[in-house]
Amino acid sequence: MVRAIVGANWGDEGKGKITDMLARESDIIVRFQGGSNAGHTIINNYGKFALHLLPSGVFYSHTTSIIGNGVALNIPYLVKEIGDITGQGVPMPKILVSDRAQIMMPYHILFDTYEEARLAGKSFGSTKSGIAPFYSDKYAKIGFQVSELFGSEAALKEKVGRVCEMKNVLLKHLYHKPLLDPDELFATLMEYKEMVAPYVCDVSAYLHEAIAAGKNILLEGQLGSLKDPDHGIYPMVTSSSTLAAYGAIGAGIPPYEIKNITAVVKAYSSAVGAGAFVSEIFGDEADELRRRGGDGGEFGATTGRPRRMGWFDAVATRYGCRIQGATEVALTVLDVLGYLDELPICVGYEIDGKVTKDFPTTSLLEKAKPVYEKLPGWKCAIRGIRKYEELPENCRNYIERIEKELGVPVKMVSNGPGRDEIIMRK
Ligand code: GDP
Repeated sequence: MVRAIVGANWGDEGKGKITDMLARESDIIVRFQGGSNAGHTIINNYGKFALHLLPSGVFYSHTTSIIGNGVALNIPYLVKEIGDITGQGVPMPKILVSDRAQIMMPYHILFDTYEEARLAGKSFGSTKSGIAPFYSDKYAKIGFQVSELFGSEAALKEKVGRVCEMKNVLLKHLYHKPLLDPDELFATLMEYKEMVAPYVCDVSAYLHEAIAAGKNILLEGQLGSLKDPDHGIYPMVTSSSTLAAYGAIGAGIPPYEIKNITAVVKAYSSAVGAGAFVSEIFGDEADELRRRGGDGGEFGATTGRPRRMGWFDAVATRYGCRIQGATEVALTVLDVLGYLDELPICVGYEIDGKVTKDFPTTSLLEKAKPVYEKLPGWKCAIRGIRKYEELPENCRNYIERIEKELGVPVKMVSNGPGRDEIIMRK
């Protein structure tokens, strides 16, 4: 059975925790998009980890962790991340990398950095991990597949030369930066070849057999619905699809095999980077939620940047669940909200004097003002509770109100960052 775990918001919903938890009963965990740009924070018996590229299943010895073809593969980063976790006592995980994955080139990271600097005040707030230049090149058909490292050296050398010629025009005339040396780049690729060789695999064929054998497979998404390049807040989005549907492409499996789509939804809102954020809050109110949020505050796992904070946005989240095709919701970080007297929920957007419950395109979104309803708070700690009925009534009302707005059953409620801090609902 294949299950996708994806974000229904702007990312940082706690997908890593849910994946790590569900990986206990899974055989294979696959990353199918994105790269090392966003991080999952995971707390388990080995300690606290920020994973960026490895799937969140790497902590179990019975699982196979896969980097699918849809991922932006930063090879030195992969090796570093494996070293980091094994250095902290985690047994060497079983890792497979798709031979069809494309390689994050050193110049992608440079171009990302240079472009953000060039855009200055109009920048996207990129993590400068090379993601946009990487996917641009992939679709411009000048990317490098892992398989090419193991093919003809002459052909690879020729392509490296050709690509450098194009890149150097921009480096010289647009960015006024040092040029790329094709020989150096080729040597780097040969180093990458050695680093990645132990993991390379025909992932699609491997998963085909695994599905036939009835294995439990998790597809782990990065970021969330609203960062999808097609259905999100374009252009303030990421450069690969964040949707469960893309899991089929980015892992190389049939779409109809994805039977269960768990949309991870945060009990309040947070976002990084630029872009419209209707239920955003500011000042002391935001600072307090940021300080109390997540595990040790809402700060980026990759950059350490303070995240933008907001109240729960039912309009954005209902849309986020719909576009993911959510079959169930995991509602996370609910424990954080126990300090509030009242909990505002954004139930509509007012745009040009009219209230809508539908999530609009970006130009309208920028004009939207939140319409709030307030629910009473529960004013106590809920960590440690394992049964839904034992949650305070006002807390259950908040969950059930959210469930009604989303139209998708909330099957899991996460009330703490740890693996076992979860309430399963029938
Ligand atoms: P991801 O990218 O979706 O995996 O999310 P992040 O890891 O960036 O952010 C989630 C943060 O919230 C992490 O620091 C988690 O440890 C933490 N977290 C996850 N679930 C819960 C929860 O239910 N309660 C609390 N307090 N923290 C949580």
